[in-house]
Amino acid sequence: RRDKAQTYLERPAVTKAGTAVRVQVNIADPSDVDGIDISTCEGIGLMRTEFLFGKTLPDEETQYCAYRKVLEWAGEKPVTIRTVDAGGDKPVPGFTVDEGNPFLGLRGIRLSLARPEVFRVQIRALLRAAVHGNLKVMFPMIAVADEYERAVALFTEEQAGLVARGVAQKMPPLGIMVEVPSVAIAPEAFANVAFFSIGSNDLTQYVMAAARDNASVAHLNSVRHPAVLRLIASVAAFGRAQKIPVSLCGDAGGDPASIPALLEAGLRDLSVVPAQLAMAKAAIADVSI
Ligand code: PEP
Ligand code: MG
Repeated sequence: RRDKAQTYLERPAVTKAGTAVRVQVNIADPSDVDGIDISTCEGIGLMRTEFLFGKTLPDEETQYCAYRKVLEWAGEKPVTIRTVDAGGDKPVPGFTVDEGNPFLGLRGIRLSLARPEVFRVQIRALLRAAVHGNLKVMFPMIAVADEYERAVALFTEEQAGLVARGVAQKMPPLGIMVEVPSVAIAPEAFANVAFFSIGSNDLTQYVMAAARDNASVAHLNSVRHPAVLRLIASVAAFGRAQKIPVSLCGDAGGDPASIPALLEAGLRDLSVVPAQLAMAKAAIADVSI
């Protein structure tokens, strides 16, 4: 099966009925791109930046170099970088706080907005790196529109600061992850975002109240539960109606068992881990949509 899947790698993904599906890849460390042939994917759908926040908080130059490397590798293809999603299953020593219920606590954009001095460093690195390719930036764990507005305001402020200093910069399109149920249920509050990227790992755990990292409730944690699929379908429909691109970057996007249901829900844009790229394209070719 793997050998057969390999033959799909070189071609753009299409279903049996000829419907095109965009397939991008998820990365974390910039070195992840070294093993990927850019011609086999449509770009980077999710670059997680938590890895940069290892033992110490990374300075602006370190982050700028990491983002620039990936942007230059991708050329004209889009690279979607996510601002730091610390907390929950991704604790960062010296940054995240100890709390009783970390999945429901100060994580993702909540923590970034609570620590603007840390967030602003990342924002400047992103604005500067944007000059070197086709960058998009997205915010994790958005629950209410005010968080998006505040994050955008920080981008605008930092851009003005760079302009005043004569530093080369560019404002990238700013989108959001759809991984908190409030956004998937009431997306109309977000009609002004540049794009949506569905985080099915978190969306599923929050809809099913079954932690993503707890084997004893793994049977409940399914993206194919009708409650989760219905939310995904309604976000996809909202995006079509408002002309806002909708993609999915959770692990389900690379799971051959979930791909038919995701396409059925209306998605045409998936981002998968590099190891799943060939399998995902092969699974798409099997769907008759
Ligand atoms: C998700 O929640 O589906 C997602 C892509 O983000 P992460 O797994 O990093 O939380
Ligand atoms: Mg997530």
